[in-house]
Amino acid sequence: MQSEGKDELKIVLVLFISTLMLGWAFGYFVFALIAFLIIYIVWTIQQFFIAEDWISKNDNSPPPIVFGLWRKALDEIYYLRCEGQEEQFKLRSTVSFLQDSFASIADAVVMVDWHGNIQWCNYSAEYLLGLDPVKSLGIPLTSQIAIPEFIRYFNTGDYRSPLEAASADSKDTHLQFQMTYLGISGRLIFVRDFSHTHRLQEIRKDFVGNVSHELRTPLTVIMGYLESMVDSDVFVNNPLWQQAVSRMAQQASRMEELIGDLLKLTRIETMAELSESTSVDINALLGRIAEQSRIIAGDDCSIDVDSDKNLMLLGDSEQLRSAFENLVFNAVKYSKGHNKGNIQLKWFSDSRYAYFSVTDSGIGIDAKHIPRITERFYRADESRSTNTGGTGLGLSIVKHVLINHQAELVVDSVIGEGSCFTCVFSLQRTQQKT
Ligand code: ADP
Repeated sequence: MQSEGKDELKIVLVLFISTLMLGWAFGYFVFALIAFLIIYIVWTIQQFFIAEDWISKNDNSPPPIVFGLWRKALDEIYYLRCEGQEEQFKLRSTVSFLQDSFASIADAVVMVDWHGNIQWCNYSAEYLLGLDPVKSLGIPLTSQIAIPEFIRYFNTGDYRSPLEAASADSKDTHLQFQMTYLGISGRLIFVRDFSHTHRLQEIRKDFVGNVSHELRTPLTVIMGYLESMVDSDVFVNNPLWQQAVSRMAQQASRMEELIGDLLKLTRIETMAELSESTSVDINALLGRIAEQSRIIAGDDCSIDVDSDKNLMLLGDSEQLRSAFENLVFNAVKYSKGHNKGNIQLKWFSDSRYAYFSVTDSGIGIDAKHIPRITERFYRADESRSTNTGGTGLGLSIVKHVLINHQAELVVDSVIGEGSCFTCVFSLQRTQQKT
């Protein structure tokens, strides 16, 4: 562009000087100067109109014949136009490739724009969600899927975990929704038929619940006999038998605790949504739990409570009691005999969430175990759990209680220094005491 500019300048200068010299030679110097300037201006205006005409047409035609700088400028514009069209073509073929791929999969795929209006959906969305790949376009997705849990999930904007919910058309069809953000302007929703996995989960829960229930009666009978045998004269005078019988009584009571926890877990797990939420006074609940824990802890550790007296939580009081007790009793259990234990219970809120946290200065948990400790029967260290007792179900119960309250458990721990378990609740679940 620069050399083209210089060339044009050279030609104009040569023509200008030649015209002036001719004018001077024939005695028309001023006339030659004015004539040259008029011709140059007219020529430039003509080039401008030709260029402007081609630019405003904006079609694929090559640039018109113009000269000098004008030619260079129009060539550049033409090159950029071609490049832009190529990019657009590539983008369009990528989008249609993705749409073709999504169109053929069994899962429903729906794209919505920033306002939540349907932009595109595949054919599976028709039979899974009742959407019409043509007629539903431009309509708000939440007006087309009458599943209250989905509408809540869609509006929260927090899509870290998938949502499972029964279909609006049939309670036997269970769907799993997974959403992600698509660039800055849209969202992509994958929906799969989860009915088979859901049925298997139901069968497992029923099985565990039924077996636990059936085991409870014979175990109660066995425990009754064992307790009376421990105190009976027959065994009191026979140390060997007495030890055996008291070990049997101990194991039977452990088994009873396990069955109790399994039944509790099954009950909490099968409750997908809380049937009713009452306003729970967490401050009073923590007072009662702390009192019980001080009795269990004895002189081994101190327990402090710092709670917002006016902050109430909407939920199931029995489930919340069970979850919070598990966390606090664990803190006592895993702090006993380690340093001079201090346990802090906190209940508070900030502008985003409400928090219940239990911080202990106990044995701590190795980082590699943390992602798995809420699994049933998972123990960070088998040997320490054998000493401390427990069923291995406490944190599973906590996890499911929190799921039922749309809350989350966050665990921070440093081995040898202590742990902090925090239950994070949405502010919508809180209320100020009246
Ligand atoms: P358990 O009955 O074994 O205590 P839980 O489900 O309550 O079962 O806990 C699972 C595992 O997590 C425990 O076995 C223990 O290893 C670890 N754990 C839970 N709470 C704590 C804590 N406060 N400090 C250290 N380890 C803990």
